[in-house]
Amino acid sequence: MFKVMESVKATFSPDDIKSLLLKFWPFYSDGQECDVAELLEFLVAILHEELQTRKTGESFISGCFFGKFLRVDICKLCHKTRSETEDFSILHVPVVENATLLTCIEKYRMDEIIKDSTCVFCKRKVDLLRKTIITKLPPVLIVHLLRYAKVSN
Ligand SMILES: [Zn+2]
Repeated sequence: MFKVMESVKATFSPDDIKSLLLKFWPFYSDGQECDVAELLEFLVAILHEELQTRKTGESFISGCFFGKFLRVDICKLCHKTRSETEDFSILHVPVVENATLLTCIEKYRMDEIIKDSTCVFCKRKVDLLRKTIITKLPPVLIVHLLRYAKVSN
């Protein structure tokens, strides 16, 4: 997609991008509902794949838009921890009424309880305490403000 965009012209209207999108990924056909944040995440991932070098796996896109976070799950029963690092290109943060963007990001980072999960250590159904730690911010941070919140029963 990037090669086609690069070889044709320097600027694009949204219709041009939509035509290219439909040419390469017909599942984005007309009439289908599309979440704009998911589409942006998809485009960033595709452009990264096309531009990454074989040697490092990095690209201009990953250098600009990819951050990292560490997810730590703590079993409430055996207290063992499991952590994994994940790349992100968009932070999906909940909107906090009458708050700053920083407050919204802090809410995103708050510990959460993952109910009825199976602990990989004790193999029992337990509640896990999940901590999300942003370990690397990208030079260009894309923040998606979530208009809807999860409501538990
Ligand atoms: Zn456990």
